[in-house]
Amino acid sequence: MTPATALSRSPWQSARWLVLAPHADDETLGTGALIADTAARNRLAGVMILTDGSGSHPCPTPADRSTLIRRRRGEARHAVALLTGGRRIVPRFLDWHDANPHRPGSAAFRRSVRQLATLLRRHAVDAIATTAAGEPHCDHAACSRLRCRPRAPRTGRSRFSNMPSGANAPRAGASFAPRQCRQPGARPRFARTAAS
Ligand SMILES: [Zn+2]
Repeated sequence: MTPATALSRSPWQSARWLVLAPHADDETLGTGALIADTAARNRLAGVMILTDGSGSHPCPTPADRSTLIRRRRGEARHAVALLTGGRRIVPRFLDWHDANPHRPGSAAFRRSVRQLATLLRRHAVDAIATTAAGEPHCDHAACSRLRCRPRAPRTGRSRFSNMPSGANAPRAGASFAPRQCRQPGARPRFARTAAS
């Protein structure tokens, strides 16, 4: 395990960061301090969330599923707004179904790669904070695969920091707490701010 390094002592301190989270709430629990710190210094390019959140509760009907997706999105927007202090950073959603990731090479996977590449280019992203390779949850593993595809515009390649494990995540004063991903059907956990 590599010891965590404070972002203030990292060569990536002034990088423009993108957070790529598998599920709504991973962005806050995994990188809340990074989001708050980089937003305060105008170094946060954006927050992108891979899945639609539909797997956190049983949804007997399509209407229930739509309601749950809206609620999860709303929670993520609210959490990011709190962390960024009203700097109008709005999470983007790739809308993959929970626990049913697209296969690499599929049309849907390639479409998400293009969306990610567009964001990297448009917002001059230098570094991506996302899940580590080898994460056990399929959506976390998918995030790690997805982030390997596009390349950052300025450096020719993106630098990656592993988000949920906390082992290599750059810190902004607070620890990145290790966590286990919520499994579909399990009791939900709600997003908390980085200070909690
Ligand atoms: Zn997760």
